[in-house]
Amino acid sequence: MNPSNKTILIAGGAGYIGSHTVVELLNAGHRVVVIDNLSNSQSNPDDFDDLPPSLWRAKQITGKECLHFIKADINNKEQVNMAFDRFNIDTVFDFTGRKAVGESTQLPILYYKYNMNGTMTLLKCMREHDVQNFVFSSSCTVYGAPSPDNLPIKETDPVGCCQCPYAKCKYFTECLLQDLAQGEPDYWRIIIMRYFNPVGAHESGMIGEDPRGDPQNLMPKLAQVAVGKRPILNIYGEDYETKDGSPIRDYIHVVDVAKAHRKTIKKFQDIRGTEVYNIGTGEGKTAWDMVKAFEIACGKPIAFQMCGRRPGDVPKIYCDPSKAEKDLGWRAERSHTQMCADLWRFYTLNPNGYQDASVLRESGLNIEY
Ligand code: NAD
Repeated sequence: MNPSNKTILIAGGAGYIGSHTVVELLNAGHRVVVIDNLSNSQSNPDDFDDLPPSLWRAKQITGKECLHFIKADINNKEQVNMAFDRFNIDTVFDFTGRKAVGESTQLPILYYKYNMNGTMTLLKCMREHDVQNFVFSSSCTVYGAPSPDNLPIKETDPVGCCQCPYAKCKYFTECLLQDLAQGEPDYWRIIIMRYFNPVGAHESGMIGEDPRGDPQNLMPKLAQVAVGKRPILNIYGEDYETKDGSPIRDYIHVVDVAKAHRKTIKKFQDIRGTEVYNIGTGEGKTAWDMVKAFEIACGKPIAFQMCGRRPGDVPKIYCDPSKAEKDLGWRAERSHTQMCADLWRFYTLNPNGYQDASVLRESGLNIEY
């Protein structure tokens, strides 16, 4: 194999954050192979170079050819090994897993199985193929419900007091990665990214979040109300100790999250073991701030109803992202109004998500970057 063909493997790359990261890596000139079982992304409508719609569009946005796709489950070691045998992989990003906090309390076995086993299989295959660089998608849920006095939260703050099986799986996987690195400190180079609340879509409107089933988060629900797919928005909690009673989150534009991943590639040169980064803006916004910004973006009022607090929801969380700025040279650049404007553009151009992939082609949208 030619070493110049070094390839980044993106597990779960057809999904929301993965597909935006594919765009950033292709734009940076990397060769990318995606493994995805399409359990939470749309499948290939027939004629798009065998790529699922999100990746076909990533290719259109970038104009780059060096993108490959393998439909496979990362729990299947044989299939994952085939990818390692076929490509000269030197870095692995893991975006897989189920992500619905509420569902995880109802189906814990499913979460423990899918959110931990697959990552272990990936790591085993990496070790067998002498691949050392790994980026794991973790979550701010590992911090549990931090005391308001402890905000903004830092990477060194306590983790593990988790509220749900989803968060516990993230925490246990982080523990596994720390143990792995401790066992072989000169081998592993592992970056753990703790995302806060990724929202928005690529500014082209070509890629965004198009989950299967009912979304659990505020922003996709807001957009669904605006396009008439959902009658009303439920706002959970009006009596938190915040300026308007609604909970505070650290919303971050998905393109900023993707750009943080691009920055990890250089960092691998000087890390040994593990490094953890908060990936957020450092600024908390209430649910109401987001609703108001979205109303401006879409130009219409959003029908809503106030509901009680949701079990497991934390009142307030936002991070200190300064470590990522210092070490990776990365900081979030996009405002919450841009998050809303880009989300609305994606919904306007794709009222049926990726299902009607002809919409963009027929629109003659010409995207240049
Ligand atoms: P997503 O569901 O849009 O993407 C995940 C992708 O992985 C999907 O395309 C799915 O088909 C694929 N997948 C799932 N299980 C797989 C398996 N076993 N084998 C192969 N492919 C598989 O999710 P996302 O929003 O892009 O999130 C990516 C990661 O970031 C997840 O691990 C999630 O827990 C984490 N995260 C997301 C958020 C968020 O708000 N989106 C916040 C914090 C952390």
